[in-house]
Amino acid sequence: MSDTDADAASTAESNALRTPIVAVLGHVDHGKTTLLDTIRGSAVSEGEAGAITQHIGATAVPLETVSEMAGDLVDPTDFDLPGLLFIDTPGHHSFTTLRSRGGALADIAVVVVDVNDGFQPQTIEALEILQRTGTPFVVAANKIDTTPGWNPNDGRPIQETYEKQSQNARSRLDENLYEIIGDLSDEGFSADLYWRVQNFTKNVGVVPLSAITSEGIPDLLAVLMGLSQRYMKEQMAVDVTGPGAGTVLEVKDERGFGATVDVVLYDGSVRADDEIVVGGIDGPIVTEVRALLQPRPNAEIRVEKRFDKVDEVRAAAGIKIAAPELDDAMAGAPIRVVRDRDIEDVIEEVESELAEIQVSTEEEGVVVKADTLGSLEAMANALREAEVPILRAEVGDVAPRDVAVASTANEEKHRVILGFNVDVLSNAETELDESEVKLFEDDVIYQLVEGYENYVDEIERAQQ
Ligand code: GDP
Repeated sequence: MSDTDADAASTAESNALRTPIVAVLGHVDHGKTTLLDTIRGSAVSEGEAGAITQHIGATAVPLETVSEMAGDLVDPTDFDLPGLLFIDTPGHHSFTTLRSRGGALADIAVVVVDVNDGFQPQTIEALEILQRTGTPFVVAANKIDTTPGWNPNDGRPIQETYEKQSQNARSRLDENLYEIIGDLSDEGFSADLYWRVQNFTKNVGVVPLSAITSEGIPDLLAVLMGLSQRYMKEQMAVDVTGPGAGTVLEVKDERGFGATVDVVLYDGSVRADDEIVVGGIDGPIVTEVRALLQPRPNAEIRVEKRFDKVDEVRAAAGIKIAAPELDDAMAGAPIRVVRDRDIEDVIEEVESELAEIQVSTEEEGVVVKADTLGSLEAMANALREAEVPILRAEVGDVAPRDVAVASTANEEKHRVILGFNVDVLSNAETELDESEVKLFEDDVIYQLVEGYENYVDEIERAQQ
């Protein structure tokens, strides 16, 4: 290869579009987990071309696999996006706590609605979140296989299957589908069955499907591909060889590696020898990558064999990063690769993003611990509304120093730790037993705040 060829190749590489990041939301039991499992499963059994690649915290379905699964619905030559990256943890919590540069980390969302159950509180909540973050979405009208008299038509586009149903089955399904379309309209979205939608940024496409039988899933993938190809190309045009930017999903201890961060990379690349800046409890952490770890397919139980080391990953991807000093890294925090950039600029970038999501604190108040930055922020908002002052708010499990800090409060009602979705370290439990500090724990924010408010009422009543 001549130099010019090599240059042309590397320019083509760096001009490559990244994979759109897809999140799955919806009410509990409407089928989010099953849908993700089935997408992974059918992609695997489809098998040949690209299959899927399992990432940390995400699953990549390459374009070839999408087109194999979607048959006539996706002609790969119409696309220059590499495929779709599904975030593995469904639900609002992961959607709202995972951000990129102030926006949502996910580029597109799938809102799963059980056709029999229709709109439920978390469906509406999901739509509000998507509206607020300006995230385009499609609706998966799930569980159509439960329609009485339903006749599946394997491997055909769902429109065809839908049109071939007996009148009875069709009208039963239509009743449910049009209720969903009507409820979407009540929420301010003009929606229709996806094959009648012309412009997916103006109208919400509803895809009737079954996460169990997988009919309609090819259509869903085709709609997601088409939507991103047509309307999100600019957003996907990142330099996938440039210094990477990502969001921390989780901070985890791994045997042999110490503290590691699971990261979704949405821009650029990370290499095995990069210097990185990661958002931490006490500010940006500057460190150097020790290893980039991908899950090993069909991993053996032996922990040290669970991962393969790789030299580089490119956006969009999920990756585990092992590096020194990561103990105080925070879930939901930004991560940046330094490489040829001025390190001060990178630190400042991480600092300013952290500041956006930091919680202001008072001289006297309660201690708050939460599992991610986003949930910490949500807790702080809920407490502000309830007029509860906060002395300290941090991401992480309840540790002895939290007990020490909480015990310094002057008022009994402030000698309190509120833990959202966190564990209590065993040495902190001992300290709690020996102190006057009271711990409240829950994984539902309003219940946690309510529990605390009841406690305050009790104290005040006793004092009267
Ligand atoms: P999640 O809470 O939204 O993640 O819901 P799950 O994926 O756990 O599904 C809840 C229940 O609905 C499980 O018992 C699933 O087997 C069932 N389910 C999910 N999708 C379908 C579907 O398409 N058809 C049928 N018949 N059952 C489904």
